[in-house]
Amino acid sequence: MKVLIIEDEKNLAEILKKGLEEHSFIVELSFDGEEGLYMAESFDYDAVILDIMLPKLDGLSVLDKLRAKKMDVPVLMLTARGEIGDRVKGLNTGADDYIVKPFEFPELLARLKAVIRRNKGESSPLIEADGLTIDINSRTVRRDGSEIKLSSREYAILEYLALNRGRIISRTELTEHIYDMDFDLDSNIIDVYINYLRNKIDKGRDRKLIHTVRGAGYILKGD
Ligand code: CA
Repeated sequence: MKVLIIEDEKNLAEILKKGLEEHSFIVELSFDGEEGLYMAESFDYDAVILDIMLPKLDGLSVLDKLRAKKMDVPVLMLTARGEIGDRVKGLNTGADDYIVKPFEFPELLARLKAVIRRNKGESSPLIEADGLTIDINSRTVRRDGSEIKLSSREYAILEYLALNRGRIISRTELTEHIYDMDFDLDSNIIDVYINYLRNKIDKGRDRKLIHTVRGAGYILKGD
């Protein structure tokens, strides 16, 4: 999952980035509203964490412009304690949720995961497909009840495929949501990880979940 943080308090932004990276997120930072809006419009993020008080363009205006362009990326707003008006305005402008500063990281993480999940049409943190269950909160994966140990990268790929199940995901899209901008998009590394995943998830089973769509990408299919 790739997240954009638009927050001018650099220390806070860096701490959030580090914390989220420890949970397998790819994180990009912007320290002002104008650049943040540009990035949110130009790149495909799974969520945006948006501060309200920002230089150049405030967070509510960033949100307003995004929604005016029909961009439905989930937005988690950071609001100051006591600014009830801002929270209400944020929600009315199209924020998916808000969190009041100062906050504890686990709460931000939980709210972030929840807005991403709801945006993908999942009401529960437990994704199920043909005996495969993925618990997004604890990041545990099981098939037919047995726990499957995955590396951080394998998990990130499986989670992305599962949250978008039934849709063909190109290698480029997968790479963009799993690696940061510096990564060489031509690499075949995604295929390598898909093979690892297949060995762990599908090998020896009648019903395969991860399918290759020739020339297009991968799809996770299951009922
Ligand atoms: Ca600020």
